[in-house]
Amino acid sequence: MTDTFDVVVIGAGPVGENVAARAVRGGLTAALVEHELVGGECSYWACMPSKALLRPGHALAAARRLPGVPVGDHLDAAKVLERRTYFTSNWDDAGQVQWAEGAGITVIRGSARLDGERRVVVGDRTLTARQAVAVCTGSVPVVPPLEGIAETRVWTSRDATSAKAAPGRLIVLGGGVVGVELAQAWRRLGSDVDLVISGELPLPKLEPIAGELVAEGLREDGISLHTGAKAVRVSRDGGEVTLGLSDGTVLTADELLVATGRRPATDSVGVETVGLKPGDTLHVDDSGLVSGVDGQWLYAAGDVTGRAPLTHQGKYEARVVGDVIAARARGPVETPPWSQFTATADHASVPQVVFTDPEVAAVGLTAAQASAAGIETRVVDLDIAVAGSSVHADGYRGKARMVVDERRKVLVGVTFVGPDVAELLHSATVAIVGEVPLDRLWHAVPSYPTISEVWLRLLEAYGL
Ligand SMILES: Cc1cc2nc3c(=O)[nH]c(=O)nc-3n(C[C@H](O)[C@H](O)[C@H](O)COP(=O)(O)OP(=O)(O)OC[C@H]3O[C@@H](n4cnc5c(N)ncnc54)[C@H](O)[C@@H]3O)c2cc1C
Repeated sequence: MTDTFDVVVIGAGPVGENVAARAVRGGLTAALVEHELVGGECSYWACMPSKALLRPGHALAAARRLPGVPVGDHLDAAKVLERRTYFTSNWDDAGQVQWAEGAGITVIRGSARLDGERRVVVGDRTLTARQAVAVCTGSVPVVPPLEGIAETRVWTSRDATSAKAAPGRLIVLGGGVVGVELAQAWRRLGSDVDLVISGELPLPKLEPIAGELVAEGLREDGISLHTGAKAVRVSRDGGEVTLGLSDGTVLTADELLVATGRRPATDSVGVETVGLKPGDTLHVDDSGLVSGVDGQWLYAAGDVTGRAPLTHQGKYEARVVGDVIAARARGPVETPPWSQFTATADHASVPQVVFTDPEVAAVGLTAAQASAAGIETRVVDLDIAVAGSSVHADGYRGKARMVVDERRKVLVGVTFVGPDVAELLHSATVAIVGEVPLDRLWHAVPSYPTISEVWLRLLEAYGL
């Protein structure tokens, strides 16, 4: 059976959905192929369930920082898990399929493989793409080569976001975003948690203030942090899992969450039929065209490109890809930086929130990244200690850092760490993407008394 569409999208995560929707909006037909659940990792095993697990613990901690608010000491774990399950639609994608079909997209169930130029095979069907194929297959967890890991049942982030009850004891291996978020989520739901990280601080890709304050927060919650630790072997004996570290420490628990990173899902998408290597990242130009493939027909977006593995950034790339495919169907297209057809923000303006308590909200370059890029920087560091933060919570503790490009007098990076700073982030993103000169930013007056007054203090500390 052969079907022809203008665009065939492989993978119906948030990114694939958006590529297809934008292409249809641009007047094209689109098939969206999915072999698990329409909505992808984010909806069922990543962003949504993890945030649903974390939010009640944050609310309880926030209430406990305010005298006079009558709250207990513990969460009702069963109710939290029930609400988490609600957010995943009980791992049923009927709602998302209905949305896709309502948007004019043809949803096809099955595992898709490229089969040469503009052809995609799904079971006994061959889909032919008149304009383009977009690979949006996301990423899969990296499993580190620990002795015994192949024979040992361990948790990945999928298990940790879909578990039906809190394990009594949980070891989390990995101090990146997934590791710290899920360590805190399960700790606050009642598990005893050991967090094993290879560096001295968690969150090594962010500014050090992030790792410092998050580590403090995790310790205050009662999580045992094992820093500078190298895991070497793992085994399971009956119900108990054991993790051996290189310094001789042996940790035991009911579950071991391995959160040591993710890699692009290109193992079985047929990329070898177009001259690429299975397992490799699909490198793309700023319009989403895959490098190393002739002709303007193979696109990729989202985690599979390795550019910025975040849902919001992948969806931004998806809007670019869907729009540029539709535009190129009409004729040649210019792709200057910051055009509708160019994912320029991926390079140095990516916002990210770590939903721990304290939260981390960061956008752009860290001071180290900016210096490495040859930018003449000036760094301003401050405690978040303004009227708004002191009213927000007793004993509010937070830090802010802004990184200024001294030649252009604009911001290139901003990081806030503290309770409830996530909603501050978009102001920083707008300042960076808009390249707002500092002497104009000075006129963006923060409201009193809000935490955003930290902007005023940062600019004052800079010398304005
Ligand atoms: C625990 C956790 C928490 C996270 N929290 C956040 C967060 O709070 N905010 C945030 O921005 N990001 C978060 N992320 C990252 C976010 O989940 C990803 O960036 C996002 O899901 C990427 O979207 P995607 O569409 O590229 O890939 P995916 O969501 O992985 O979707 C890819 C889809 O392709 C399908 N597929 C793969 N191969 C084939 C094939 N051959 N045929 C058919 N279908 C195929 C898969 O089944 C899947 O549905 C989190 C990640 C994890 C692991």
